[in-house]
Amino acid sequence: MFLRSTSIGGLIALLGCLFIGDAVAAAQAKGRRGGVAPDIHAQRLDEAVCRHWLPRLPGVSAGLCRTSRLEPTGGRSVQGRPLYITDVRSVHAKMRVLVVGGIHGDELTSAGLALRWLQLAYDDPADAYWRFIPLLNPDGLLAEKPVRMNANGVDLNRNMPTHNWAIETKQYWEVRTRRDPRRWPGPAAGSEPETQFLIQQINEFSPDLIVSIHAPYGLLDFDGALPPPTKLGRLHLDRLGVYPGSVGNYGSLEYHVPVVTVELVHALDPPSTLETVQMWRDLGDWMNARLLAPQGHTGHTD
Ligand SMILES: [Zn+2]
Repeated sequence: MFLRSTSIGGLIALLGCLFIGDAVAAAQAKGRRGGVAPDIHAQRLDEAVCRHWLPRLPGVSAGLCRTSRLEPTGGRSVQGRPLYITDVRSVHAKMRVLVVGGIHGDELTSAGLALRWLQLAYDDPADAYWRFIPLLNPDGLLAEKPVRMNANGVDLNRNMPTHNWAIETKQYWEVRTRRDPRRWPGPAAGSEPETQFLIQQINEFSPDLIVSIHAPYGLLDFDGALPPPTKLGRLHLDRLGVYPGSVGNYGSLEYHVPVVTVELVHALDPPSTLETVQMWRDLGDWMNARLLAPQGHTGHTD
C-alpha cells in the first residue's frame, strides 16, 4: 500500500514527519551557533554542510536536512562538491524508483521537494525501493547567485548521452534556443562529472522509474510507453516535447524506463506541505496502478 490511509490521523502523521526534524535540530544546535565555516568538500552531510545548503532550500528545515541521512558516493561536481544519495527500501519493495532533484541549480524548490519527499519515504516507503539524489548540481545551486548550469556552464539536462546527441543537441541549441548560454548542451555527450554520476547511478540502481524534478513550468511531463499520470497535486500532464540530452529523453529512449518530469510552479517558493504530500500520494497511486500492473512492467533489462 502506498500512503493509502485517508484518515485524518494518517495525514497528520505525514505532515508531522516533515516538521519533527526541526525540533531535534533546534535542540542540538542550541549553544553551538556560528564559528565553523562550512567545508564544501566535506564528506558527510553534517550540520555545517546543512547550514551551507539551507538558505538555498526553501521549505526545508535544518532538522529535515540533518536527518536526511544522505551519504557521499565518491562522485563529485566540477568544483569538487560531493554528490550525495540515500536509499529508502521497503521490505516489500516491488519496484525501484530513482528521484533526482537539483539538476538545474536555480530551481531551488526542486532540491527542496526531493528532500521533503525523502522524509515522506522514510515514514512510509510503500512497496518501493527508493534512491534519492536530491542535488545533482550543487555548484549551480550554491553559486554566489544560483545558476541553471553546472560550473562548466553546461545545462546538465541537455548533456545526457542520447541517441544522435551531437546532431540533435546542436540543432536544438543553435536553432531552437538561438545559442542560449543557459541551455548549452556541453562540448560532448555526457561530458560532465554530474551527468556521468547520474548515468552511473542509473546503471547501478537499475530503476523501474525515474522522477526528475524541475521548476517553474507548473506541469507534469512524461516519457515512456506506459499510460502517464494525469496529475500530481495541482500539476497536470502537459507534454513539453522532446529535448535531446535530457534525463527524460535518456531514460525513456536509451534506458527504456519511464520518466516522470515534475515541473513545480515556482523555482523559489516551495509548494505547501499539503501540496507536497498530495503530489507524493498521487505519484504513489499512479505507481501502484501502472508499475505494478502486469502490463506495466517495462522490461528495461531486455
Ligand atoms: Zn529544470
